[in-house]
Amino acid sequence: MLNLVLFGPPGAGKGTQSEMLIKTHNLVHLSTGDILRKEITNKTKLGLEAKKLMDQGILVPDNVVIGMIDSQLENNIKSNGFIFDGFPRTKEQALALDKLLLKKNTAISAMISLKVDDQELIKRLLERGEISGRSDDQNEEIISNRISEYNKKTAPLKLFYNNQQKLYEVNGLGTINDITMKVNTVINKL
Ligand code: ADP
Repeated sequence: MLNLVLFGPPGAGKGTQSEMLIKTHNLVHLSTGDILRKEITNKTKLGLEAKKLMDQGILVPDNVVIGMIDSQLENNIKSNGFIFDGFPRTKEQALALDKLLLKKNTAISAMISLKVDDQELIKRLLERGEISGRSDDQNEEIISNRISEYNKKTAPLKLFYNNQQKLYEVNGLGTINDITMKVNTVINKL
């Protein structure tokens, strides 16, 4: 199985690159952000709770997203592999993911981390906010909270995967195709 963690700050291009990779490598895309937004659209209890946090740029509790990933893994048991996008975002989530995959006799193959500077991130997110109407992309204060949550709680995961010799960093600036090519070069060497 090919199990990739696509990593990087909000606006780094994880979702865009995931769309490219699922096609070429026949993988299942698991984005906790997308799953949460689906819950919000369906006005479920979980969605309504999560929205309060997401609209402030704060992470939702670990047990909520871990539970979501657990059930998605169960639902896609025959898959060729997974792209984890926006998950794990904390050490707790990373440890839980390792356990869930071990139960299925598999493991993370690599973390591919997209590097983009803060100024470019803010620009991309504000643009996306205008197009998509996503409430957490429309306000600079919320965006800066998300970047600060990332720096505090999420960025340290690079060390976690580096210690397992699974970290690959890719420059996230350039055209979508350029970046896909660079990501594919990493995957082809795995
Ligand atoms: P982005 O990476 O562009 O910030 P996402 O769609 O991945 O966008 O996430 C949007 C919001 O959803 C986050 O700010 C957070 O509140 C919540 N969220 C998504 N994934 C997780 C996660 N793994 N753990 C905690 N909260 C999450």
